[in-house]
Amino acid sequence: MENRQFIEPEDVIALQFECCKCGAKISFPLTDELQFKPQPLIACPACKQDWKITPESQEHDALRQFVDGLFRIGPALKSRTLKLAMEIPSRED
Ligand SMILES: [Zn+2]
Repeated sequence: MENRQFIEPEDVIALQFECCKCGAKISFPLTDELQFKPQPLIACPACKQDWKITPESQEHDALRQFVDGLFRIGPALKSRTLKLAMEIPSRED
């Protein structure tokens, strides 16, 4: 039987992007909202693969909104009498 786990928004401490061409991984700490600057997503810093996540793109806008939501949901629910958690399947590796 599959074991499931839950994470809360505050459990997310960084976002990681992996280049599908070379496998390079880039991590953006989420400890400070103002420090989250995903400009390097325009191209892979290792192999120079064009990722095309420019500041004007829909992908960049979606990413920005996703990160904003992560930062906002915790404080927004803090005074409420319920908690939000996201369910993830446990990994077997
Ligand atoms: Zn790469």
